[in-house]
Amino acid sequence: MFKRECIVGIDIGGTKILTVVADMHCNVLAKVESLTNAFEGYERVIDRIVSSIYTALERAGIDVKEVCAAAACVPGPELDVKKGVVYFAGNLNWKNVDLKEILERKLKVPVFIENDANSAALGECLFGAGQGTSDMVYVTVSTGIGCGIIINKKIYHGASDSAGEIGHMVVLPGGPACSCGNRGCLEALASGTAIARDAKELAKKGCADAVLKAAGGEIEKINALAVAKAAKAGDGTAKEIFYRAGRMLGLGLANLVNLINPSLIVLGGGVMKSKELMWEPMEKEFYARAIKRAGQNVEIVSAELGSMSGIMGALAIARSYIE
Ligand SMILES: [Zn+2]
Repeated sequence: MFKRECIVGIDIGGTKILTVVADMHCNVLAKVESLTNAFEGYERVIDRIVSSIYTALERAGIDVKEVCAAAACVPGPELDVKKGVVYFAGNLNWKNVDLKEILERKLKVPVFIENDANSAALGECLFGAGQGTSDMVYVTVSTGIGCGIIINKKIYHGASDSAGEIGHMVVLPGGPACSCGNRGCLEALASGTAIARDAKELAKKGCADAVLKAAGGEIEKINALAVAKAAKAGDGTAKEIFYRAGRMLGLGLANLVNLINPSLIVLGGGVMKSKELMWEPMEKEFYARAIKRAGQNVEIVSAELGSMSGIMGALAIARSYIE
């Protein structure tokens, strides 16, 4: 009897969980989205993941016995890819969650775990903006700044799965406080959180009226999106905030390129939806700081898979179990 084989990809985000069933070519057959509701605790979240997988399988008309492998991408920063343990994921409020073991017990299929930025990097490399490239870096600028390094079409993990934490590269000693406890990290200067923080500070001094208006008049509601809205409408203060963030991003990328010498940098994440506000200062700073040959040999492009980059990488990881 013909056995239809398939794989499962799971993207566990701070806000929502995406689950897909795909064929062995990573063509998505069914997709289910659910809310993470991390406040309910990891057991409930994992139960929701499992039921989403069953819903996706049902929609695709596939029995769980036909699943060869599953892979989940989760936010870091602390996880062990081989053991499949999430030591710490701030966005999920998870500590020491044995995700691989729990999912394997519930699904009875091999499960792999990967850091979300690494998984998105692999997804973009194989199916998105990085197709045809073997050495590239994916950088996501969102609430935080994440990064995945691809060398020879494979994720570079480092000694303890911590490689690519460009968000915590110090670019301004003594600069603003970062969520990691350090100061002046790239994430504290160029992320959506940093953009919102700068705008809030100015609004408190009465110097960011257009941004405040874009946020509905409440300082606490100012986010990167409101700053972008004001900047796109021509507000000088909002434009300046994005300009500075763009410069810092360019500086971070130059450091990265000087170290890795990739042929491609793929930029993704929510803040990059307003890339026109950052691109020029980013490039200016990047080319001023990068080693000439390394800078000339790298192309900087936007991600192509949007919210699917992480899950496409997860599917590739699940498929590699069979290969
Ligand atoms: Zn940091």
